[in-house]
Amino acid sequence: MRRVAERLRRDGQGIGFVPTMGYLHEGHLALVRAARRENDTVVVSIFVNPSQFGPDEDYRRYPRDFKRDRSLLEAQKADYLFAPSVKTMYPEGFQTGVRVEKLSGPLCGVSRPVHFGGVATVVAKLLNLVAPDRVYLGQKDYQQFKVVERMVRDLDFPVEARRVATVREKDGLAMSSRNVYLSAEERRQAPALYRALCRAVALIRSGERHAGKVRQALVQGARSAPRARVDYAEIVDAGTLEPVVKLKKGRTLLAALAVFFGETRLIDNCLVKVP
Ligand code: AMP
Repeated sequence: MRRVAERLRRDGQGIGFVPTMGYLHEGHLALVRAARRENDTVVVSIFVNPSQFGPDEDYRRYPRDFKRDRSLLEAQKADYLFAPSVKTMYPEGFQTGVRVEKLSGPLCGVSRPVHFGGVATVVAKLLNLVAPDRVYLGQKDYQQFKVVERMVRDLDFPVEARRVATVREKDGLAMSSRNVYLSAEERRQAPALYRALCRAVALIRSGERHAGKVRQALVQGARSAPRARVDYAEIVDAGTLEPVVKLKKGRTLLAALAVFFGETRLIDNCLVKVP
């Protein structure tokens, strides 16, 4: 990968990079298409990164389908697929980590304390190997985007982090590789997340200025799905991810949800500027 990247750079090719864990869907492909539009060469990585999973999480059973992924990427005219092994990325003796302090703490950081350290470390490694001009990340994982955006600034990676809008199923459910875990009944209930987020955004747009009330609506909306167990429902500042109390005019907020259906944990979010 490094040799390829060096040659591309020598040839003056602008490189767009899309890091993924595979089991690709239209959300991933939207990132690939954005990279395709804005760069000469598109590199996609598939690496199910063990260091971003907690001990009780789904690393082992995370869905994988390399052949299908490869043909989807060929259809999108991606140029390179980089799929390193765990041994390549974490050889014996590996012991370095990147931590983005404050942004990794709230929201998903509460129930997944090792997650963003694993993400930041693997993305740093991938950026060093691929040496892209732009890296493409989805809004669905907004906190991940903020962590990577901060890391590239703080560590002077010569790369621009680009955020791509969340791609949804027709009924509003955010596309995710983990949606395959859902039972038919859970799948029917899962659009409650997005409906709850839309309701929260509508409340803010129609003049509600107490974060507590908006948050309450978010929780209630998520609970309208009988099988849902809310992990968090928060209204935070979109820049710092810190909780907000008063919804001041002009501020951009993130309404964010994480909900368990059985063992399956789904996340979603919406951005809203207080009018
Ligand atoms: P993952 O394979 O789940 O690690 O995701 C790889 C990249 O795809 C991340 O930047 C995600 O934010 C992005 N992504 C995943 N699902 C979606 C979606 N529904 N819409 C947009 N981007 C997504």
